[in-house]
Amino acid sequence: HNYHMAKFVISAPDIRHLPKDTGIEVAFAGRSNAGKSSALNALTQQKSLARTSKTPGRTQLINLFEVEEGIRLVDLPGYGYAEVPEEMKRKWQKALGEYLQKRECIKGLVVLMDIRHPLKDLDMQMIEWSIAMEVPVLVLLTKADKLASGARKKQLMEVRQTLEPLGGDVEVEYFSALKKIGIDKLRIKLDSWYST
Ligand code: GDP
Repeated sequence: HNYHMAKFVISAPDIRHLPKDTGIEVAFAGRSNAGKSSALNALTQQKSLARTSKTPGRTQLINLFEVEEGIRLVDLPGYGYAEVPEEMKRKWQKALGEYLQKRECIKGLVVLMDIRHPLKDLDMQMIEWSIAMEVPVLVLLTKADKLASGARKKQLMEVRQTLEPLGGDVEVEYFSALKKIGIDKLRIKLDSWYST
């Protein structure tokens, strides 16, 4: 698919405000600052498709992009902000859980984690929800350019080892929006999910 054709459709605070649950969606999730916006922009070759915004208020919405009719990318709210009230955190988490557990057109989840700080609680939560819903997962270890190749490989192996016992369809790869590492693998994975 021509991911560079992606166009913004709508921002929604929760799944009730999303368009009809038809077609195929692949969702992107990650802690805030994990590099999710940069990855989406690299994938779509658009400088500012997803806002690399530091203001929680603007990014805490489900953002939908259409690649072609019935083929959508979903930018889920970044999680793990330290400085927001508990109540707001709970709200976002509820929206994420609902999206994964109730939206039927989701066919894959990409979870982005900074390669230097992988597998935090909420990352595990997202992965476990997906496995429970039988949604395949691609974990991208982002900012891979920040580590030398030895350390990079070690992290990859460790994350794979931690996730393996969970079962499910979970793959782990490295990624760098900056150095364009892993974009082809991401594209191939998305193509396979969109053809199911
Ligand atoms: P988001 O909050 O998950 O959408 O994260 P952003 O895409 O806004 O990125 C957060 C920060 O990490 C920004 O300062 C980016 O410039 C930086 N960043 C994102 N991707 C990469 C990468 O591949 N390599 C490096 N070195 N920095 C990155």
